Amino acid sequence: MYTLYINMNNAYKLYQVYCIEEGIFVKTHSFTDPTECPNDHPDKTIDTNQTTIIHYRPIISNTSQTLSPKKETMSSQNYQDLQCDFYFNKLIMDRITNVKVIGYINNKATSYDVRTFDVTHNTEIISDTLTNASKEVNDLGYIETSPTEDALIEFHVKVTGSGGKATIENIMVYYK
Ligand SMILES: [Zn+2]
Repeated sequence: MYTLYINMNNAYKLYQVYCIEEGIFVKTHSFTDPTECPNDHPDKTIDTNQTTIIHYRPIISNTSQTLSPKKETMSSQNYQDLQCDFYFNKLIMDRITNVKVIGYINNKATSYDVRTFDVTHNTEIISDTLTNASKEVNDLGYIETSPTEDALIEFHVKVTGSGGKATIENIMVYYK
């Protein structure tokens, strides 16, 4: 089951604007309030006091995505990519709120670190050190530093302990 989220702020809208030079109302589609007349003429200035929204075409999206790593058993003591990228698309998402990881370690590992990494902006979004040896859903916590523009997101894992291995079965990304 999943929930649909309707984001009215990001809705594609049909606006009516008043063009001062042409002296007429003009219709135009936009995500954000128009700043000028869409018609082709020299002075596109509009009277923004007369701008109205005729209708909304909201973008409807899921609120989570489950990703399955291509490479699910990790043994490196340095961060390695799980190869299950997530695309943060600002057009349909406000922010990433949470990441959960279904994973566990073998008896030679003492812990494993999972991090959510914004490759586009080369910044860590969130990371956590986990120690569970039986399969569990691990919540990395509420995300304070979501990307604010389009970004390619990777999930990295490193393992502590000689001969240690971490198995990651799924990554769940929550957003709104
Ligand atoms: Zn005009």
